[in-house]
Parts: sequence; structure tokens; C-alpha cells
Amino acid sequence: PDIIVASGVHKRYGSFEALKGVNLNVRAGEVVVIIGPSGSGKSTFIRTINRLEPHEQGTITVDGVELKDGQNLDLIRREVGMVFQSFNLFPHLTVLQNLMLAPTRVRKQPKAQAEARALELLRRVGIEEQAGKYPAQLSGGQQQRVAIARALAMDPKIMLFDEPTSALDPEMIKEVLDVMKTLAGSGMTMLVVTHEMGFAREVADRVVFFDQGNIVVDTTPEQFYTNP
Ligand code: ADP
Ligand code: ADP
Repeated sequence: PDIIVASGVHKRYGSFEALKGVNLNVRAGEVVVIIGPSGSGKSTFIRTINRLEPHEQGTITVDGVELKDGQNLDLIRREVGMVFQSFNLFPHLTVLQNLMLAPTRVRKQPKAQAEARALELLRRVGIEEQAGKYPAQLSGGQQQRVAIARALAMDPKIMLFDEPTSALDPEMIKEVLDVMKTLAGSGMTMLVVTHEMGFAREVADRVVFFDQGNIVVDTTPEQFYTNP
């Protein structure tokens, strides 16, 4: 069964229809790259998957749970991790504290357990040495890797990425994409809004193209990048 089933999803901002009946099914473990012009609804769509935006018509089911109004919000936030273009770390918390906050507060994990897991995740994204630093003391690439680790600390089943490398200097893009590649290789279900064609070609199982609030192409990267 598909882990994400979006069917006929509509979303308006006032009189502007940002999503016009989007359909998308995603299997567990699939990596779907989302591309399309600015303003076509990519960001809005992935934000409906974790309830940052409510949708108005259509249905969205995540891991068998239908997303409706305010229902199951806690469950969805736990199962669906998100990484933004701007790293959105808590500036007054250290890297380690950033990773421990949700597991201890939301999941009520014992501190020692949350800390051990946080350090393991920081090791995985290659920044364990920075655990005691504050976000402002890190490079953009390091901050984004912390943001990924922080999302993973909740043990999500799905990870959403909204232009995760767009705010980074070129030399830092690769270190973030490498972490994402490893994550994809581990079987994580991922929806990734990105302009990184290399990532799409190498890592994506599918490429979906948004235009004016709808998915107009849904195909393999091979098809997408060879047949204009
Ligand atoms: P994309 O991610 O493809 O660039 P978005 O989903 O961010 O597109 O935005 C789709 C459209 O919806 C754009 O025209 C944008 O200006 C509009 N939009 C997005 N968020 C809001 C909002 N909170 N209020 C009003 N309009 C919005
Ligand atoms: P991104 O390109 O990363 O999606 P945006 O600059 O489009 O970021 O949007 C940043 C924030 O502003 C989002 O919360 C989005 O919902 C909101 N937003 C985007 N477009 C509009 C708009 N036309 N009116 C009001 N809010 C908007």
C-alpha cells in the first residue's frame, strides 16, 4: 500500500487557487523529486502533507491515516519530518539541544536516550564535533545537516525537503546532498523540492513537474531528462 495518497487536493489563498486537484501516490521508500516553475504550488503541496497548510478539498492519507482538519496532528508531525530552505534551527539552543528538544518534549524520551540518539545522528551527518556549538557558529551546510538530523531525531517515516540547498553556497551543496543520498539509500520515503538535477537523476525514483497548481508530468528521471 502507498504511504502517501493525495487525491484531488485543492488549496486556496483567498481567491487564488494554489493547488487545483493534485493527485500523487507515493510508495514506501520512494524518492520523489518535485520540480516546476516558481509559484506553481510545489511548496504548498508538500506543506499539506505535514499539515503546515490545511487543504480544502480532496483527501490526503499518510501511512493509512487521513489528514482532516486538526485531527491526528501530533501523529503526522511525528511521522513526517521537514527540512526547509532556511535551516530554522533554534538559535539559542546548541546543536545537541536542537536535536533533543522534540524527542524529550514531544515524545517524552528520557534525556539520556535522546542524547545518545542525537549524538548518533550527528555522527551520521558528520558533525558530531559541533554538538556543543550554537547554530550561528556553523556554516550553512553544517546547519542544514543539523536540520536534517533534527528531523530524523523524531524517527519519521517520511521526510519532506523544500529547496534544502537553495540557500547554500555551492561548496556546501554537495555535503547536504550527500547526506540526503545516504538517507535515500537507507530506504526513507522522501519528497524533495529541488533544482538539483544531479540529485534527481542519481537518486530519484520519480520526477513530478508542477505547473499552475497541478502535476503535469509524473515520470522517471531517465524519461524526464532525456525526452524533452
Ligand atoms: P512554489 O513552491 O512552486 O514556488 P508555492 O507553493 O510557494 O509555489 O506558492 C504557490 C502560489 O501560492 C504562489 O503564487 C504564492 O505566492 C502563493 N502563496 C503561497 N503561500 C501563500 C500564502 N501564505 N498566502 C498567499 N499566497 C500564498
Ligand atoms: P519558498 O519559496 O521557500 O516556498 P516563499 O517565499 O514562497 O518561500 O514563502 C515564504 C512564506 O511566505 C511561506 O510561509 C508562504 O506560505 C508565504 N507566502 C508566499 N507567498 C505569499 C503571498 N503571496 N502572500 C502571503 N504569504 C505568502
